[in-house]
Amino acid sequence: MDIVRKKIIKSSVSDSVAKLIKAAFSSYRQGNNSRSKRYAKMAFELIKKHKIHLPEELKNSFCKKCLLVWLPGTTITTIYDSKNNCLRIRCHCGYSKRV
Ligand SMILES: [Zn+2]
Repeated sequence: MDIVRKKIIKSSVSDSVAKLIKAAFSSYRQGNNSRSKRYAKMAFELIKKHKIHLPEELKNSFCKKCLLVWLPGTTITTIYDSKNNCLRIRCHCGYSKRV
């Protein structure tokens, strides 16, 4: 497969990943938790399959372990990690990530 074709595929896949994450957020806000998780799962499968690099705001938008969308104050808690001198976000499932 040539490079130009690969680039076209990757750009179209990253567009659809952005759409899926947006849909996951809107369905979570409507109270449909299982549908939101399904959208996040579809987005994560596309990211893994095509090895695409997402911008930071999309990377830090859902949990890789439990596929819950991350809304500050409701589904994640932000704490200051004094040991590593950084901010750390913790999901409801216990997964934590350095930001
Ligand atoms: Zn989680």
